Amino acid sequence: MISIEALYNIYLKHPKVVTDTRKIEKGCLFFALKGPNFNGNDFALKALEAGAAFSIVDEVKDNSDERVLLCSDVLSTLQALAGYHRNQLNIPVIAITGSNGKTTTKELVHAVLSSRFKTATTEGNLNNHIGIPLTLLKIKPDAEIAVVEMGANHIGEIAGYCVYTRPTHGLITNCGKAHLEGFGSIEGVRKGKGELFDYLAANNGTAFICSDFDYFQAMSAAIQKKHYYGTNPESAFQNDVVGKTIASEPLLEVEIALAGKTYKQDTQLVGSYNIYNVLAATIFGNYFGVTAEAIRTSVSEYTPSNSRSQLLEKDGNTIVLDAYNANPSSMELAIKNIGNLKTGKPKILFLGSMKELGAESEKEHQALLDLVKTFDFKNVVLVGAEFEPFKEAFTYFTSSEEAARWWKAQNDTGNYMLVKGSRGTQMEKVIL
Ligand code: ATP
Ligand code: MG
Repeated sequence: MISIEALYNIYLKHPKVVTDTRKIEKGCLFFALKGPNFNGNDFALKALEAGAAFSIVDEVKDNSDERVLLCSDVLSTLQALAGYHRNQLNIPVIAITGSNGKTTTKELVHAVLSSRFKTATTEGNLNNHIGIPLTLLKIKPDAEIAVVEMGANHIGEIAGYCVYTRPTHGLITNCGKAHLEGFGSIEGVRKGKGELFDYLAANNGTAFICSDFDYFQAMSAAIQKKHYYGTNPESAFQNDVVGKTIASEPLLEVEIALAGKTYKQDTQLVGSYNIYNVLAATIFGNYFGVTAEAIRTSVSEYTPSNSRSQLLEKDGNTIVLDAYNANPSSMELAIKNIGNLKTGKPKILFLGSMKELGAESEKEHQALLDLVKTFDFKNVVLVGAEFEPFKEAFTYFTSSEEAARWWKAQNDTGNYMLVKGSRGTQMEKVIL
């Protein structure tokens, strides 16, 4: 069995770590993970043939090649190696978790910090038990700061990530109704996400807290080093940064009050909830000594990708494409956002169903449609099995492909549309 120290010496010479056989490249280390449908151990030799320097396995299929390294468990070895690497780095490591807005916040924080530091960060949405170790192992020795996104859908997960990530600074975007199936309840969500604050409390870490959300008070009670941001200038907490929405029709503009001065922050972001993501980036920038001017430029230039709150013009319609994911909290905000918009154009909703809600599922879908009815929409198109019980009252399709065929045939232009649903519903297909 290979020790972590020995593996780390190999890693230093071969810092490219790969777990996906399709991404093997010359000189990489291949970690032979097991998934529900595959066993990476079966690919250990093929990975070497494809150019990998070593394959790390926990089952020996053929011991004829000494570049196959045996460990007790590939996943925990990957995590331990990531932890070992992290321990060599004497830099601030920022962890970002929460129900909604993690990736957007992480990218904004990265944009701001990159204007001053060599900043390592999570690629895309690689925020789980495999993505986090891979993110840590990508941090180069010359990095000056790291920003790590942590996703979780059950209790104990974030605590586990903190063991090897050892964040020095942390932020929980919010605790909402997401992944209720795994967390059981909103209290479960707070406990689960709160594991980041528990870690910071126990390790003299620094927390960045949104003072708008009362639930953070109890969650952060044991933390010594706290910085607040929010939208309430009268807040009982001393906010380092206060934001006020100037416009969100559709692009968000915020007035920022920072260090006794105010300035106008333009953004390329759709959705009023993004004010929190912008404030988070601002408070981190300020804390780490980025000038207000550099913060302002970095935030204003950031453009979201990957169907996350993108604003598009297509076939004569204005479209807010927010099809990356959905849960009751983010759906509610997105619907209120378009519902309250003064555009003059007829508005259409394309809503894909929300997954992973367990026993709450039908109730939550019903609540969403009750909210929809309080606004004036020209049409409401529902997609996915979870919406089936409501198909009499709305336009309903089982899949986004069906909805796309129907929408094409309508030849309808001049509308303002919101397209949003859980990843599994692939709502982007309706309009792309
Ligand atoms: P995931 O759990 O998939 O990693 P995430 O937490 O990283 O999601 P983002 O990818 O940043 O979140 O944003 C996904 C969607 O969540 C956005 O398109 C938007 O609808 C909503 N959202 C983003 N920021 C916020 C926020 N601060 N509050 C509420 N909803 C938000
Ligand atoms: Mg994310």
